[in-house]
This record gives sequence, C-alpha cells and structure tokens, in this order.
Amino acid sequence: MLGCWRVIPTFAATREYRSGFCCRAEDQQTQIQTQSQTQSNGLKTKKKVLVVGSGWAGLGAAHHLCKQGFDVTVLEGGYDFGLNRLVCSPDDYGIRGFWYPFRNIFNLVDELGIKPFTKWTRSAQYSGEGLEVEFPIFQDLPQWPTPFGTLFYTEFIRLSLVDRLTSLPLMAAVVDFDNSDTSWRKYDASKDNSSSADLIFTARELFRQFGCSERLYQDVFNPLLQVGLFAPAEQCGAAATLGMLYYFVLAHQKDFDLVWCRGTVGEKIFGPWMDSMRIQGCKFLEGRKVTDFFFNMETGCISEVICGKESLKADAVILAVGISTLQEIIQNSAALCTRDEFLKVLNLASIDLLTVKLQLDSKVNIPKASNACSGFDDSNGWTFFDLNAIYDEHKDDPVTVVQADLVIQFHATELLPLKDEDVVAKAMSYLSKCIKDFENVAVIDKEIGRFPKSLTHFFPGSYKYMMRGSTSFPNLFMAGDWIITRHGSWSQEKSFVTGLEAANRVVDYLEEGTFAKIIPVEEDEPHIQALRNLNRNLNEIRAQLPWSNYFIQ
Ligand SMILES: Cc1cc2nc3c(=O)[nH]c(=O)nc-3n(C[C@H](O)[C@H](O)[C@H](O)COP(=O)(O)OP(=O)(O)OC[C@H]3O[C@@H](n4cnc5c(N)ncnc54)[C@H](O)[C@@H]3O)c2cc1C
Repeated sequence: MLGCWRVIPTFAATREYRSGFCCRAEDQQTQIQTQSQTQSNGLKTKKKVLVVGSGWAGLGAAHHLCKQGFDVTVLEGGYDFGLNRLVCSPDDYGIRGFWYPFRNIFNLVDELGIKPFTKWTRSAQYSGEGLEVEFPIFQDLPQWPTPFGTLFYTEFIRLSLVDRLTSLPLMAAVVDFDNSDTSWRKYDASKDNSSSADLIFTARELFRQFGCSERLYQDVFNPLLQVGLFAPAEQCGAAATLGMLYYFVLAHQKDFDLVWCRGTVGEKIFGPWMDSMRIQGCKFLEGRKVTDFFFNMETGCISEVICGKESLKADAVILAVGISTLQEIIQNSAALCTRDEFLKVLNLASIDLLTVKLQLDSKVNIPKASNACSGFDDSNGWTFFDLNAIYDEHKDDPVTVVQADLVIQFHATELLPLKDEDVVAKAMSYLSKCIKDFENVAVIDKEIGRFPKSLTHFFPGSYKYMMRGSTSFPNLFMAGDWIITRHGSWSQEKSFVTGLEAANRVVDYLEEGTFAKIIPVEEDEPHIQALRNLNRNLNEIRAQLPWSNYFIQ
C-alpha cells in the first residue's frame, strides 16, 4: 500500500516561501554566521535548534533536523495538573486511532521498522437509544466514487435511506471548501467580520442550510464531530467541519478505515522513535518547562529559550506545544507579548478531557473495539474502547478491560472535579445504555485521568486567531494540530506534518540540509476535481458580473 504513494517535497513546490524568507533572512545572515562560528580548532560547530514539546509535532521536527546534522535538543515540560493528580500525558491514557490517510505516520513506522498497530478494525456509533451505526472495513469492499460507498456500505440501524440521501446536498459545500485561506475565511466567518456577516457559523448551521435531516444530524454527523473535533456541532466551526469530514470520511471510500495503537503511543511509537533519534545525536531534556524567550534586539531573533532559572542558546526554535500551554507562556513572556500573532492566540480555546479505564470482574461481549457515542446528555460526547481487543497488554486477560474517554464541553466542566466513584458510576451507566451486559458486571479496578484544556477547540471564528508555521521572529517556528497548513491532514498526522514543515522552515532559514519529504494527501477523485474546477470557474464568472456585489456574498 505504501509503496505506491507519491512522495513530493512540499517546500520544493513552494518557492515563494523560500524567496520571501530570504529577504528577511539576509539581514540575519551575519548574525547566524557568528552564532555558528568555527571553533578555535577549526571544526565548524553545528547550528543549535531547540524544539519545545515532544508530541507528534516536536518529534517530527526533531526527527528530520537531527538527520540533517543540526545540534537538536527537545525540551519537554511534562504534565502536572496539580496535587493529587497523576503526572502523565494524555498519550499515556487516550487510545489513539490512525486513519487510512495518515500516510506520513505509516511511512514513519515503516522507516523505524516497528509494528505498533492493530489490523484494520470496524467501529460503531451509539446514541442514548442504543446502537445506531456500524462501519465496515471500506477498503475490502468494491470502491465507488465518493460519497456513494460511504453512504451505502455503512450499516445504519435505524436511519432510513431518505435520511441518508439528505446528506447529498452537503457535497456542494464540500466541493466549494478546498482548504484554501479563502475558503477557511468564508466558512469560518464570525459576526465581527462585516463583509461576511450572514455566512455560516457553526457546523449545525451548515447542516441546516444544506438540508440534512434531523435524524442524520443527531445520529451520524453530531457523533462524528464529537470524535473528530471533540465538540458538538453547535460548538464547531463550519470550515473545520468540512475540512475534517472530507479528510476522514469523504475524500475516498477507504479513508474512514482505521487501525489502533496496540499500547500507548508513548510506549509503542515514541519510545523506539526517540531511541533512533538519540543515536543520531538528538538530546531530550525532561522537566524543562519553557517559560519565556530571550529576544535579541540587534538581530530581531530569539537567541535563548528560558526554562525557569535555566536558559539555553538557540540558532532556531520550534514551538510545538498545545494552545493552552502556549497561552500560559504568552501571558508570562515579555518577548511574545509584543507580537500580534501571539496575542491573538489568547482568544483560542481548548477542551477538557476525562478518561476512565475500568477492569471488570467478568467478560462483556463488546461487538466493536472502538465506539463513538453522543446524545446521552446535553453536551458530552464520549468514546469507549475494548482494550482486550486493542492493547497487547490486555489481550489474554480473563476479564474485560474497557476505557471510556469523556470529552467534556464548556458547559460540563463540573465533571472534572467529580469524585472517582461518581465518574465510574457515570461511565458504567453510559456503557450499560449501549450494551446491556454492563449492568451485570462489577468494577474491580479503575484509573481516572483528568486533562483540563488538552484538546484543540475549533470553534466558529477561531481560524483568524490560529497561527501559521512562521512567526514575526525570523528564527521561531510553530507546529501542532492547531497550526494552519495547506497539507489537508488532521489530528496526529497534521501534528507530524506541521513538525516536518517547521523543520523545513529551519532548513530554509539556516540554509543547511535538505527539505523533508512530506507525502501529500491523496488526490481528489476525478469527479470531485471536475466539480471543483467547474465551481471555481463559476465563482470567477460570478465575480466579474457587474452586479456581483449587489447580493450578500
Ligand atoms: C484522549 C485523546 C484522544 C485522541 N484520539 C486521537 C485519535 O484517535 N487519533 C488522532 O489522530 N488524534 C487523536 N487525538 C489528538 C492527538 O493526540 C493530537 O492531535 C496530537 O497528539 C497533538 O500532538 P502535538 O505534538 O501537536 O501536541 P501534544 O501531543 O500536546 O504535545 C505537546 C508537548 O509539549 C509539551 N509542553 C507543553 N508545554 C510545555 C512547555 N512550556 N515547555 C516544554 N514542553 C511543553 C507537552 O508536555 C507535550 O508533550 C486525541 C487526543 C486526546 C487527548
């Protein structure tokens, strides 16, 4: 499967970036040369790159840069959410799915020679009324032009064909949304954007305007958003919804197929990956919570990264942390507070997460390994996983081990301080509504994880506050699942890709090394390409008509 993918170096195609950057970089050249001078013994010292954060984004950047011979250090602040809480990352808890289009990650694990994933698995969706949807393994079935395979092979328990067909008009918006800056601005409009005051705001409004039936919305789209964007449709932006739906579900029939990590991502992937980087000279410093940056007024660059009382020199820095920690850094940073793009980040928001791992006193038959649920109460979406089917560690356990991840929305933050017993009771009552057998078993062990503000919230109007990969500091670059990229991927794959893109920006800026090869998302199917071209031409013709500005755009 991987052998036939086309490999295109993204930055080779975007020359504009390199030349645009060189204008700014020229002024810095003298400085860079002094920073990476030759030692007294005549040997050239390596240029120093600091990567802040050791998730997919930070490791992705470090991975490429240490291969290019830079002196790379990854700084990891570590999780500490207060006394009496476990000090660990959501990666030690949350179960991670890897969808068919995660080409760069699948390529990476092949490169590392590891096999961290399950086979392709089937998943299901539940509502408060029980089982709603079962997904097949789409790649095993005859391939139809999108979206017909998804529409007809998916097994809807209660949803009628008529309900399903009401999704078809939405394809007009899918075709119109091409992940460009223009389409993000169009579909992520907010009230203070006067030129597009009446455009679609929320995902719910998008589905309403395109005529989706109430049942299709409640039973399919809303739960999908709870899993893909971690928020119900009325709290998700329409642009993020279209981008996510296209990437995971609609671009190609097989895109919704997924495998699971057979243990924590930390243990199965990051561990061996970091070992391979250590061999190439990469350093990992734990317990280094970055608090500020030292800004050199003469060069206009960040010259040092500050971790409490310690400071580390850098020729280039990549910030690969989530929104909430970046907000913390900005609020305390004299350097970042001076820049608009960082101040805007303070408007962004993140979502709380509660994870519950339960060991039960006997076996429960859980038909599908992974399950998405919504409609159990007003605001929470949640997922549950059969860990006996996913994790090697629990494969032969005589009892059931199940994990429920409750994504907590704004109106439900009161769930976070719930006592452990109450969290378990809630999880068991939810599980029993999905599968009756949960009523007849007892919990013999539990692990609860509380992760405030740990998921990106793509709320309507958030696009204008999101950061790009480059910043107004010439040597400071950004990566993560909330950073704007034209690649088109989402979630872990997006973090990894933006990490590689940040590495490419460093290569470009320091003018050393070669660009990372980033595998692009699979091309649109021919009929989608044709419809997109037609739509673009019609938009151009419409814009040239004399009365084009007469009607609301
Ligand atoms: C429960 C859960 C389930 C998920 N399920 C899936 C899934 O099934 N599939 C999928 O693709 N995605 C899933 N995601 C999303 C996915 O995990 C994220 O998109 C991805 O991990 C983000 O990676 P990142 O490198 O951008 O950020 P992170 O993984 O958040 O990494 C940031 C790193 O920076 C460190 N850091 C923070 N502040 C500082 C500081 N001041 N100094 C130094 N270091 C700092 C943090 O400790 C952290 O290690 C899930 C997320 C959660 C929480």
